[in-house]
Amino acid sequence: MLTIPTYDDVLAAAGRLAGQAHRTPVLTSATADAALGAQLFFKCENFQRMGAFKFRGAFNALSRFDAAQRRAGVVAFSSGNHAQAVALSARLLGIDATILMPHDAPAAKVAATRGYGAQIVTYDRYREDRDALGRQLAEDKGMTLIPPYDHPDVIAGQGTAAKELFDEVGELDALFVCLGGGGLLAGSALSARALSPRTRVYGVEPEAGNDGQQSFRSGAIVHIDTPKTLADGAQTQHLGQITFPIIRQKVDDILTVSDAELVDAMRFFGERMKIVVEPTGCLGFAAARQVRETLRGQRVGVVISGGNVDMARYGALLSGALTD
Ligand SMILES: *Cc1c(COP(=O)(O)O)cnc(C)c1O
Repeated sequence: MLTIPTYDDVLAAAGRLAGQAHRTPVLTSATADAALGAQLFFKCENFQRMGAFKFRGAFNALSRFDAAQRRAGVVAFSSGNHAQAVALSARLLGIDATILMPHDAPAAKVAATRGYGAQIVTYDRYREDRDALGRQLAEDKGMTLIPPYDHPDVIAGQGTAAKELFDEVGELDALFVCLGGGGLLAGSALSARALSPRTRVYGVEPEAGNDGQQSFRSGAIVHIDTPKTLADGAQTQHLGQITFPIIRQKVDDILTVSDAELVDAMRFFGERMKIVVEPTGCLGFAAARQVRETLRGQRVGVVISGGNVDMARYGALLSGALTD
């Protein structure tokens, strides 16, 4: 039986996160407003603890562990923000964390995760099945596996970012949210439907990996090969069993943007708003720019999901020296 979270679960998550997660700022930009002919509100999760919204879902999920689960520890697999989110949450809650990472994961990410006190187990991404490895570890040691998006507590936690946005700025005409496996979008949609029911909610994916758009439009979860895109946080191959039904029911459409549009948005954030946003975090704004004709005179929310990008890579992308 799948447990589908509701807005009440988002509210409960907000209670658990109070005093633990940052209440991130909502930024505005006169330049962005003029360019789009709309009033934009950017919810800046690049300022969240560990640099992305993923702290919300991970901390909420680990907070709900019972005594036996706390003693046995948590296991997660990820080469990116989810690993750091679980590692940091576990440390704050006094739980042992084991993170499965590919043997060729960027050294900086491995170091950051280890820095939060997690034990790292590496695997060969070409020869080993990480899901099976994760399940095995969980079974052998009685540890609880926390997946990056397809879990009711993770989704409810992610929904608290949009809740804070609506609480702060009131109702919106449209909301743009980046989409990988759909934890952030599903959670955001729960908050939007409860707090601002007439908001049009859009998920945004990289053009090269539009499995979510295909799934949304066909009505069944579509699987794709790992897409080649700058948006490394959205390189998922399919939506989840829990995220998909929520997205299908509560989201208005799923849009796509190109890697070039992501770099343009990243440059805008750096030059005009003085904020560092990772490529995946640029999806929402890139889509809003693309469909600006439909947003004239409206109040528009954009979730900026994270800011974890290697500075050398950031510079190379902005200077045009690097295109993948
Ligand atoms: C994980 C992640 C996403 C995608 O989130 P999902 O819940 O998998 O859809 C987007 N942006 C950043 C920065 C992320 O870390």
